[in-house]
Amino acid sequence: MSRVRGFRPAPLTRRRFLEQLGAIGGSSLVMTAMSSMELMADGAGERPQLTGKPGKARVLVLGCGISGLVVGYELAKLGYDFQMLEARDRVGGLAWTVRRGSEHTEADGGERQVCTWDEGQYVNVGPWRIPHSHTGVLNYCREVGVPLQIFLNESESQYVYYEGDAIGPLAGRKLRVREVRADLQGQINELLIKAIDQHRLDSPLTVEDQDRLANFLVSQGYLDSTDRRYKAFNNRGPGDPHDLAALLQSGFGNRIRSVSPLEGTVASPMFQPVGGMDQLPKGLARAIGSNRIALNAEVQSVHQDDRGVKVVYANSKNGKKTEIAADYVVICLPLNILANIDINVSEEMMTAIKAVPYSSSAKIGLAMKRRFWEEDDGIFGGHLYSNLPLGEFSYPSNDYFTKKGVLLGLYANQPVADLLDRPVAARIEHVLTHASKVHPQIRQEFESGYAVFWKKVKYNLGGFATGAARARRPQLTKVENRLIIGSAATAPHSEPDWQEGAVAAGWQALTSLHERAMRSSSAGGR
Ligand SMILES: Cc1cc2nc3c(=O)[nH]c(=O)nc-3n(C[C@H](O)[C@H](O)[C@H](O)COP(=O)(O)OP(=O)(O)OC[C@H]3O[C@@H](n4cnc5c(N)ncnc54)[C@H](O)[C@@H]3O)c2cc1C
Repeated sequence: MSRVRGFRPAPLTRRRFLEQLGAIGGSSLVMTAMSSMELMADGAGERPQLTGKPGKARVLVLGCGISGLVVGYELAKLGYDFQMLEARDRVGGLAWTVRRGSEHTEADGGERQVCTWDEGQYVNVGPWRIPHSHTGVLNYCREVGVPLQIFLNESESQYVYYEGDAIGPLAGRKLRVREVRADLQGQINELLIKAIDQHRLDSPLTVEDQDRLANFLVSQGYLDSTDRRYKAFNNRGPGDPHDLAALLQSGFGNRIRSVSPLEGTVASPMFQPVGGMDQLPKGLARAIGSNRIALNAEVQSVHQDDRGVKVVYANSKNGKKTEIAADYVVICLPLNILANIDINVSEEMMTAIKAVPYSSSAKIGLAMKRRFWEEDDGIFGGHLYSNLPLGEFSYPSNDYFTKKGVLLGLYANQPVADLLDRPVAARIEHVLTHASKVHPQIRQEFESGYAVFWKKVKYNLGGFATGAARARRPQLTKVENRLIIGSAATAPHSEPDWQEGAVAAGWQALTSLHERAMRSSSAGGR
């Protein structure tokens, strides 16, 4: 068995082996990477079964992100008279797919980008994956005819690349997930068999069962069936096994699970809409009907009294103001945006609205002339496992074996260095510099990039709501006379707020609105 040159590990006694196993997770870098990868979210649960229709009750829905669209879709089914106001010239909010012609100017007079990629090339710069447990979102996809395909979170051939002294002898080396998984598993199995043979494994198993266990370990770890030793085998890729102590020190094992989790960002299976995440909001909007949705309608004030609500919005292209009246308003705007709108809610409500922080999420898409990761490296989807300052670097799970493709060069939910304050070209250069350590072809194949740093995107000014979600919900979900909040930050289940959270929040607001309207209607009011 080869050892990494220049590295002499201490003999791996059983005690040291178990200590090291217990110490997996010692590398804080690796843990940081993991925890940001495994953002959890529950399913939205049962769709509310609402019945009845109030007398005259006109509703305004503010914002056409997933939450607003879900409210609109359900209001239409219930037969309400409603109108939706959206500040942008498109629906979807965070569910934005950047493709040829997409453009935005960063807030505060910042830089303008226009996407010039070939037709058919795209990247999801907000939500990009849907866990199979998010049945709220998945059922809407089915209902409005949005075809789905598998989103691959891990492929055996993707690379593992970590830098830094703490990583040990495997730092700065490009390994495949398959060799890391095989070498870890195989050598651990070999040690376990030795412990069984030497009767040093405290185990409730009978002698016969221990024999069966040893057989299982041989087959599961690809051990040599004659001497029950782990040797590099063809399927792990060429070369000798990496030293077990070095693998344990690296902490790579933290990212490699026996079975994929049911929930969170690395659940399996996961799905994505064919053609981009924006297919879902577009599908919902089609079902609602364009006559119900006013685009380029930037809400500026919301004033309620006992008789109704008046909303003023400005055309975001020409500034022309319009006042519109309603009986009820469902607010599906990001709360950091709502905090700066002229609205008469109670002091407690405004304090709660202002207290919700939003993530510094950012993504950079890199259009490539050639799918070199497929052609040269045999990687078909999944992510690069690394501690490079790129957050997640990912390969597309769509349009395999075509000519061009868009890599997700960076995805982070916290600030990465001072990138937010640097010109777009410098942010892209940052990605190319680090990614070329693993993929030297990237510079030659690079066509152009598109950077979306949500803190600088007008009408969001942040990613998703963070902070103590459960604590804020009791206040934020209160119906304040004629106003109800329904954006993802009020979701009852998910932390942070996935699209499933937006669905759950929409359902919750809809239920409150319907109860309020029915109550008022049966009392003869509005
Ligand atoms: C980078 C990133 C990655 C994510 N990844 C995933 C993922 O993989 N899977 C997943 O399920 N979820 C993911 N999420 C979370 C998901 O995107 C959100 O939870 C969800 O889209 C929120 O929907 P929403 O309707 O509450 O808010 P938004 O999408 O923010 O919608 C709010 C709407 O209000 C509009 N608006 C704002 N101001 C005004 C105004 N003054 N007048 C009128 N309209 C206005 C906006 O234009 C927007 O359309 C991700 C989020 C981010 C940022």
